[in-house]
Amino acid sequence: MNSSIRTVGIVGAGTMGSGIAQACAVAGVEAVMVDIDRQAVDRGLAAVGKSLERLLAKGKLTEGDKAAALARIAGSTRYEDLGHAQLVIEAATENHALKNKILKQLGEMLAPQAIIATNTSSISITQLAAVTGRADRFVGMHFFNPVPMMALVEIIRGLQTSDATFAAVQALAVQLGKSPIAVKNAPGFVVNRILVPMINEAFFVLAEGLATPEDIDAGMKLGCNHPIGPLALADMIGLDVCLAVMEVYLHEFGDSKYRPCPLLREYVAAGRLGRKSGRGVYSY
Ligand code: NAD
Repeated sequence: MNSSIRTVGIVGAGTMGSGIAQACAVAGVEAVMVDIDRQAVDRGLAAVGKSLERLLAKGKLTEGDKAAALARIAGSTRYEDLGHAQLVIEAATENHALKNKILKQLGEMLAPQAIIATNTSSISITQLAAVTGRADRFVGMHFFNPVPMMALVEIIRGLQTSDATFAAVQALAVQLGKSPIAVKNAPGFVVNRILVPMINEAFFVLAEGLATPEDIDAGMKLGCNHPIGPLALADMIGLDVCLAVMEVYLHEFGDSKYRPCPLLREYVAAGRLGRKSGRGVYSY
């Protein structure tokens, strides 16, 4: 298999899809971004333009680099435009049935040697691989938000991902300036598996009245060198998202150590979802 990927297709032009397209284009890789929603394509392209503008203002790009990057990105609502991609990264809405449908379609229409990757945060790579009809050429590429700034990509092997597939996407991640880590398929992969239970534990500490939210966050910032405390981070991620992730771990592992903190449930039930609702642990 050719390990040098020069043309990448991206399904979904939202937060992650547009970020992935930008990272590709800046690194000299052609990116075709497809979304079912024309407005989402336009918003995605506009987001890339704005982000490149900010990098230019900071002196991280030249005017020429910006123009060249923009010229490497195409937006479309037609899946046929993915036909030349050596790799298609699925970054559509996090919904299992929807991803099954998209991945089955990609498996049927792409060239046999093309690799398919998914940016899913929570769905089993091995399960998704099964619908593509090319489980050996399927892999998880879990980018972090905001993609242009975050160095990490978790590369997740499903049960049947081949070594050649893994090597090809690992090389691409390095070409994009990322630092990939190798992970086997399991709920939450590595980072969220550790991060979200830590946030849940911070809610238990809060619920037990052991410290104020400010002191819990200060403790983890100053004592562990975390750039942000777990409760402030929960407000950024969304308390509903944190709760849903814990529910998945509890269900998938069947281990009570993943039980969601009742206080987290209470806040979500009350509509205190974090920054997006104006109030979570803190008020905004
Ligand atoms: P988003 O809502 O910003 O974008 C999703 C896009 O998918 C939308 O533009 C939507 O129109 C499009 N879409 C829906 N159905 C489609 C279809 N059939 N074909 C093509 N496009 C379709 O979502 P996002 O935050 O970019 O998340 C995308 C994926 O990345 C999810 O799987 C999510 O779990 C994962 N992820 C998100 C983050 C994050 O912090 N946002 C981080 C890592 C991974």
